[in-house]
Amino acid sequence: MYKIAFLAGDGIGPEVMAEAKKVLKTVEKKFGFKFDFHEGLVGGAAIDAYGVPLPESTVKLCEDCDAILFGAVGGQKWDALSSQLRPEKAILGLRKHFGLYANLRPAILFPPLVSASPIKQEIIGNLDLLIVRELTGGLYFGTPKGREETGGVVRAFDTMIYTEEEIKRVAHIAFKAAQNRKKRVTSVDKANVLATSRLWREVVERIAKEYPDVELSHMYVDNCSMQLVVNPGQFDVILTENTFGDILSDESAVLTGSIGMLPSASLGDKKPYLYEPTHGSAPDIAGTGRANPIACILSAAMMLEYSFGASEASNAVKQAVTRALDEGYRTSDIKTGAGKVVSTTEMGDVIVNFI
Ligand code: NAD
Repeated sequence: MYKIAFLAGDGIGPEVMAEAKKVLKTVEKKFGFKFDFHEGLVGGAAIDAYGVPLPESTVKLCEDCDAILFGAVGGQKWDALSSQLRPEKAILGLRKHFGLYANLRPAILFPPLVSASPIKQEIIGNLDLLIVRELTGGLYFGTPKGREETGGVVRAFDTMIYTEEEIKRVAHIAFKAAQNRKKRVTSVDKANVLATSRLWREVVERIAKEYPDVELSHMYVDNCSMQLVVNPGQFDVILTENTFGDILSDESAVLTGSIGMLPSASLGDKKPYLYEPTHGSAPDIAGTGRANPIACILSAAMMLEYSFGASEASNAVKQAVTRALDEGYRTSDIKTGAGKVVSTTEMGDVIVNFI
């Protein structure tokens, strides 16, 4: 039996999570697993109940679970709160508490959605890449950082810092992921300018020797941002540090046509890992039945694969999603090739049916 911390959050979070639960319950029946769902409050819902976005009770609940499935948090109601109390702090708090240092974001363009991509069809081809982003180090966390004023001159500064160990552990995750894919890792850095990037390159090259079946190449981040648009098909796994990964993963997300399709996983050295759709709480469509549940359902599929080693079940979910799209089912965010425009729950039902 696997215990799943089920953190629905705000806005469309609970709506898409309900569909992911339906899918997991189908996987239980079909593949003989037993999942135990433990619901916890996060984000605005937790602020309303406890005054904080990530209550101690939710952290404890997650500690007791094998994996965390997270919906989305945030909304106008809580926008005026100070930065420490904002709903989004829940996700940062969980990443920090559980040492989730590797963020995996696949960008897959499902063939029926090719015309939804902003990139020309002949260039986008069969896009299927995975970005492995270092999540807990680098510029966003390095100290000192701050702002000061001396003699009328205002300065602000951040520090980009990486240890060998931080690079090593995320590199292992990227090489292992590549072994189950097309066996290519592109390590992205700015080694012509940054000392952290030179260390990054050195350590990644050392780790690569442990994976002789995986081909390693290096690319500067400025070139990579260009290559993602002119020749995205060349990539299999992109391994990169925190800030570069933040930017490149959004760029690769938009290549696929809709933010409602993109799952993610955050992994560390020990369970629980965290899985979430990359979109936010979409307050503009919350409660209208228009949310696309696919990103959340594919996040559940990643959970099956990475936390429970259930590749067969995970593939069955992905194939059911592909079939739903192939057969023309679309939520209203997907503007292309709609045979049948369906609601959030109807899309969940179709996918369940195809599993
Ligand atoms: P968003 O991702 O919520 O929405 C951007 C646009 O995409 C909206 O028009 C929305 O309707 C649409 N969209 C998003 N997901 C969709 C889905 N599954 N199906 C159909 N359409 C979808 O980003 P935003 O508007 O910048 O932020 C809204 C709130 O979400 C803010 O409070 C923000 O802080 C929060 N947020 C939370 C997370 C998270 O929980 N991890 C991530 C990003 C933003």
